[in-house]
Amino acid sequence: MERYEESQLYRIRHSTAHVMAQAVLEKFPSAKIAIGPPIEDGFYYDFDLPRPLTEEDLAEIEQRMRVIIREGHPFARREVSADEARDLFQDQPYKIELIDGLEAGGVDEYGEKTDEAVVISTYKQDTFEDLCRGPHVADTSEINPDAVSITFKAPAGAYWRGDENREMLTRIYGTAWQTPDQLAEYLELLEEAKRRDHRKLGQDLDLFTFSQEVGKGLPLWKPKGAILRDLLERFLRDEQLGRGYEPVITPHIARVALYETSGHYPYYSDSQYSPFEVEGDLFMLKPMNCPHHVHIYKSELHSYRDLPLRWAEFGTVYRYEKSGELHGLTRVRGFTQDDAHLFVTPEQLEEEFLGVVDLIEFIYNSLGLTDYRARVGIRDAEGDKYVGDDKGWALATEAIIAAADKRGLTYTVEEGEAAFYGPKLDFIIRDALKREWQISTVQVDYNLPQRFELEYVGEDNERHQPIMIHRALYGSLERFVAVLIEHYAGAFPAWLSPVQVRLIPIADRHVDYMNGVATKLRALGFRVELDASQGRMGGKIREATMQKIPWMLIAGDRDVEAGAVSVRLRSGEDLGAMPVANFIDYARQIVDSKSLELQ
Ligand SMILES: [Zn+2]
Ligand SMILES: [Zn+2]
Repeated sequence: MERYEESQLYRIRHSTAHVMAQAVLEKFPSAKIAIGPPIEDGFYYDFDLPRPLTEEDLAEIEQRMRVIIREGHPFARREVSADEARDLFQDQPYKIELIDGLEAGGVDEYGEKTDEAVVISTYKQDTFEDLCRGPHVADTSEINPDAVSITFKAPAGAYWRGDENREMLTRIYGTAWQTPDQLAEYLELLEEAKRRDHRKLGQDLDLFTFSQEVGKGLPLWKPKGAILRDLLERFLRDEQLGRGYEPVITPHIARVALYETSGHYPYYSDSQYSPFEVEGDLFMLKPMNCPHHVHIYKSELHSYRDLPLRWAEFGTVYRYEKSGELHGLTRVRGFTQDDAHLFVTPEQLEEEFLGVVDLIEFIYNSLGLTDYRARVGIRDAEGDKYVGDDKGWALATEAIIAAADKRGLTYTVEEGEAAFYGPKLDFIIRDALKREWQISTVQVDYNLPQRFELEYVGEDNERHQPIMIHRALYGSLERFVAVLIEHYAGAFPAWLSPVQVRLIPIADRHVDYMNGVATKLRALGFRVELDASQGRMGGKIREATMQKIPWMLIAGDRDVEAGAVSVRLRSGEDLGAMPVANFIDYARQIVDSKSLELQ
């Protein structure tokens, strides 16, 4: 498969970003330009503008972009010295900062870290010259002016270099395709994604909230969201118990020394919070659960007869994310992993690894996540991010590939995707909008057992080193819930719906009857709400539909007389009147079987 970075579409988008910057500079000659890279499905450019943009400004910029494209300007590249570049961009402080970085080395022209030696080059089309390494199309005639669009009609804010202590810039997003049809299809998908956005649905459905006073990137789960999350936890916990896992529980902080032994510290210093002192000793918020579980293992001497041990914990970990990179529930600063560690003998490794893969596929199928792929992540050439010896890495990599083949998985092998202590098998699901999310991970680890000197007494009475399997199925519960919200567009399967049944009495005189129905349903474990408000029928049904509640039960005189309810689905479908007992039988069957459908 062609890499996106090498595709024509990538060059088109990158070139269109430059055209957009030209159009913006023509409209606002005093604007300062920052960076404008291509991204998945489009591009953006960050500007420091003299005033906020209006929708009319964006429409005007878009029109001007089409004119520039139609004029057919070549993209001309040239290499310059740092001094020449500073001269060229003397009115552009952000570019000057980037040039200084390029000159000093270690960063590219987007300010991102790189090991490659960087030559300073520029690209110029028409009147606009940008600091850029390319690649670009040869000429703007390669861009289809009718397949170009600014994507978000309200521009977004973005901190310069993602740093909240720096300037707030205006980010304009755009997209470019090869044909107008592709553009139309993409814009439609974008609209659907907006409708499904978990941040919006999370608020509309009352699932979670954020508070500036609590802190950025720290989600607060409201009762309905907490029910959803708890159901997911219980589902997995029960399944794990049936598969021989045992629960463990560990605290949220630990001594820094623990992570020095694990090798985590200081490799990951930019993704963790500063240590703090307690009684002269340094502690930190836990960035991972593994070393805690390792010490449970170390608390006693194990025999080969005890193995395999499968220890699971819903463990909350804390990772530093720049505020500019926080995003709803998918990028947060504290999240809960459905973490487990399996301690196994070499003979047990393959079977245990396959057992984890089986559990992952079982969970996906249960949730209707049937479109996914696997990826074997191995070390990249420079091994300084990794701990452990080559032999352990080779053994672990072989074991993963052998197990994946045995299972018949289709997978790709990708360099640089390993964990710092070992290679891994990741599962990447595609949601209803065909967007990819890396969810589950299984890792084979020879290194932590060695670093922590883990052992078990073998059949031969000698001491041996166990192998660890690290695994998480949901990954981060926060992220997983976000993916589910967007995948289902908020319409969860009945068993997962925070509210399963909404009861709607037609008139006040039916409220008592409905209270009785509610009591009966609640006693059977259904999650039920009664809407006895003074609204009109149509409004109540609309409200329940917006809340994506699977079942609406409506009762009037005739229903009360017959001990019945009229059943309506959130899809708008009317199942008609049925005795309450019949509804219970039908709904129970749907819930108990974790059916993805309502009929
Ligand atoms: Zn560029
Ligand atoms: Zn682990």
